[in-house]
Amino acid sequence: MKNCLFCKIANQEIPSEIVYENDDILAFNDINPQSPVHVLIIPKTHISSLNQIDHSNSEVVLSVFEAIPLIAKKMGIFESGYRVVSNCGVDGMQSVDHVHFHVLGKRLMNWPPG
Ligand code: AMP
Ligand code: ZN
Repeated sequence: MKNCLFCKIANQEIPSEIVYENDDILAFNDINPQSPVHVLIIPKTHISSLNQIDHSNSEVVLSVFEAIPLIAKKMGIFESGYRVVSNCGVDGMQSVDHVHFHVLGKRLMNWPPG
């Protein structure tokens, strides 16, 4: 998708601090971290948001969730725990329209979030 920031990051047209990569997904450090560990996981193919997940593309969600424990180990949060978030749409305050999963850790997560 032209002019999509995360497509450009996935294609490595825009640099990022890559944490993990396979054929389907890319994980990289968030540029504005909300916790000491803040990794974003994106599918390499363009999917706008959780609303566009269906049977035709849901395998990539499996890839994301299979990668999460690997990323957690790499980032040193496997034992201490972490939070996974995907913001969707206006009320979800999604700011980049390419579906992504935040992995947040190394601090105690308050609940409910603000
Ligand atoms: P969301 O608000 O859920 O759509 O999340 C978008 C996230 O992308 C925010 O946490 C931003 O800090 C992050 N972000 C925006 N631009 C970049 C970038 N160039 N590299 C890494 N993270 C970014
Ligand atoms: Zn995209």
